[in-house]
Amino acid sequence: MKIKFLGGAEEVGRLAIKINDGPDSYMVDYGVIPDKPPQYPMPFEPVDHIFVTHAHFDHVGGLPVCFQSKAQNLFATDMTINSMMPILNDSLKIMRLEGYPERFNADDISSMYDSIRTVTYGDSVEAGNLIGTAYSAGHIPGSTMWQIENHNRLLVTGDLYTRDSNLLTGAKPVKSDILIMESTYAGKNHEDRKVVIQRLKNRIKEVVDNGGKVLLPAFAIGRTQELLMILSDMDLNVAVDGMGNTLSNIYMTGPNYLRSMSEFKRSQGRARQIRSRNMRKGALDNDVIVSTSGMLDGGPVLGYIQELMNDEKSAIFITGYQVEGTNGRLLLDTGTLNIAGVAVKPSMMVEKYDLSAHAGHDDLVSFVKDVDPDTVILCHGEHREELQDDLSEYNLILPMNGHEFEIN
Ligand SMILES: [Zn+2]
Ligand SMILES: [Zn+2]
Repeated sequence: MKIKFLGGAEEVGRLAIKINDGPDSYMVDYGVIPDKPPQYPMPFEPVDHIFVTHAHFDHVGGLPVCFQSKAQNLFATDMTINSMMPILNDSLKIMRLEGYPERFNADDISSMYDSIRTVTYGDSVEAGNLIGTAYSAGHIPGSTMWQIENHNRLLVTGDLYTRDSNLLTGAKPVKSDILIMESTYAGKNHEDRKVVIQRLKNRIKEVVDNGGKVLLPAFAIGRTQELLMILSDMDLNVAVDGMGNTLSNIYMTGPNYLRSMSEFKRSQGRARQIRSRNMRKGALDNDVIVSTSGMLDGGPVLGYIQELMNDEKSAIFITGYQVEGTNGRLLLDTGTLNIAGVAVKPSMMVEKYDLSAHAGHDDLVSFVKDVDPDTVILCHGEHREELQDDLSEYNLILPMNGHEFEIN
């Protein structure tokens, strides 16, 4: 078996793994880093099949490019497929607005949609001599670990979270011979999620009781919905704005992918969906506003910051990872951010809460032990070497982008 990372080996994002196994060739993901301009993996090399792990841009952002030269089967859960559509359409819009090279167009997206074969968790599909089985990765609704069997059992985690959250049940290990695993949090453990959530809720209550409003910037995929679930037993008026509303409506259609559909529906129903500019004015009558974008690089959240920025009683609570170079990171590091090219310094309180959807160091190590492979290949991480000591009993590979290697 020959494996080559076209992206996402020694970096977080733009995952693209090309695998040749006997006569069959396949790709897992073909993602893009949402930088300015977006960073693609190395050029796509045609394969017979493509397996998709989940709908985040750094895993699916470049997929339409793969359908410009050749039609191949694309396997993904129906939830991943439904969630991808607004993400890819949005990225087309951004390419045009920002004047980035247009790497694909709407026709490429429709050729891709013609090649889709959807699965749900537990389903096995035949792809040439291979059998692929989809398992939950616990990361976002629809996220999948693929086990691909031929003479070996290979497990590719995609992005992985092994603990339960309000929204999802954690990923369960699947016995395999070779494991390709993400390692975003190598060397770091998360504080207990329940403790972080309780602290966040206490602070929200304090701010609101003191006459302030709380802004919760949130990613559209997964985080918006999880925050609404966290807020649902608090006696607060909550508004929710941005693309998260579109995704919430998509999640309503997939009970298999959520921990509890009834709790999900109840929590999303309690929040007021903001769907127009006019409604946006009224949104500030609420105690809490959940809004995209999660890294403050656009979206309605910036308008709310402009309205509230001189209010010392109000707060911005950030719950997601903030990539270097984003407004969110700038705000955390310096207390300032850029809105329409102007640097502003809000008087609002700014705090960070770690609600990651990636497994921490110790959880990655115990996941490997339970999968019980011979070979472990680490990717999607900038500090992979931090796992070396704890995984010394395995044939451990830390590949680099562009280098092909062989496993027998
Ligand atoms: Zn990722
Ligand atoms: Zn992800």
